[in-house]
Parts: sequence; structure tokens; C-alpha cells
Amino acid sequence: MGQVQAGYRDTAQRSLVLSVVRGADGHLTAGEIFELVRRRDARVAYGTVYRSLHVLAEHGLIQELTFADQASRYDKRSDRHDHVHCTKCGLLVDVEVPVALMAHHVAAEQSGFHVTNHHTVFAGSCPDCRARATT
Ligand SMILES: [Zn+2]
Ligand SMILES: [Zn+2]
Repeated sequence: MGQVQAGYRDTAQRSLVLSVVRGADGHLTAGEIFELVRRRDARVAYGTVYRSLHVLAEHGLIQELTFADQASRYDKRSDRHDHVHCTKCGLLVDVEVPVALMAHHVAAEQSGFHVTNHHTVFAGSCPDCRARATT
């Protein structure tokens, strides 16, 4: 901390972290990304992975998704999209929800804000968790 960076600097470890996130299926936690990074380079420390994820997200190369009571998840997609979130197992799936665009305007109108971004998370239980609950 305390080190000010003007722009994104690529380092070998950052590119490794980025390629792991981009190669991943879905939305991984820092811990899961760390496991995958370690398989490619066992010398990388957890703190390095964690800081790299932060820097990559800050520069818009990946997206950090935060949830109140759960670990952040990292998304290789940096474009705007919405998510459905399983509150039982933590699974996160991409969805495109056109109605959210209207919500964007309603939010701006009601608050007087210039709204630049919005992200909708739909919470519930995924098909696997529902199947598990009924068997
Ligand atoms: Zn689930
Ligand atoms: Zn996503």
C-alpha cells in the first residue's frame, strides 16, 4: 500500500494471474485463483495474487464482484452484465437483463445522479442445489 501508480504496469506475475482468470470457467474467488496460479508457478505468494487481482480490476482488465457476506469473485468479462447468484453454494452465472436498462433511468430520475454504471444480482438457489434439496 501507499505506492501510487500512474498506469497499469505489467509484471510476469500479473500476466500469470490474468491468464488464469481469463482461462477460468465462471467466477472464481481469490483462493481458487491462487490454487490455479500455484499449479503454474509454486513460488507465487497469496498476497501477490490478491494484490494482482486488485490492480487488474482497478484497471478494468477483469471485474471484481463483491457480496456482503461472501468472498469477492473475479470475472474475466469486464463488460457490463448481470448475475444470478446461488446463496447456497455461491455459484455465479452471467445473465443479460434488458429491463435493468430501464431501472438505470428510473434510478437517475429519482436521485438526480448521473448514473454511469449498474449491476444487478439476482439471488436464489441454482438447479444443483434445488435438486440436492429434494433428494
Ligand atoms: Zn447452488
Ligand atoms: Zn460475470
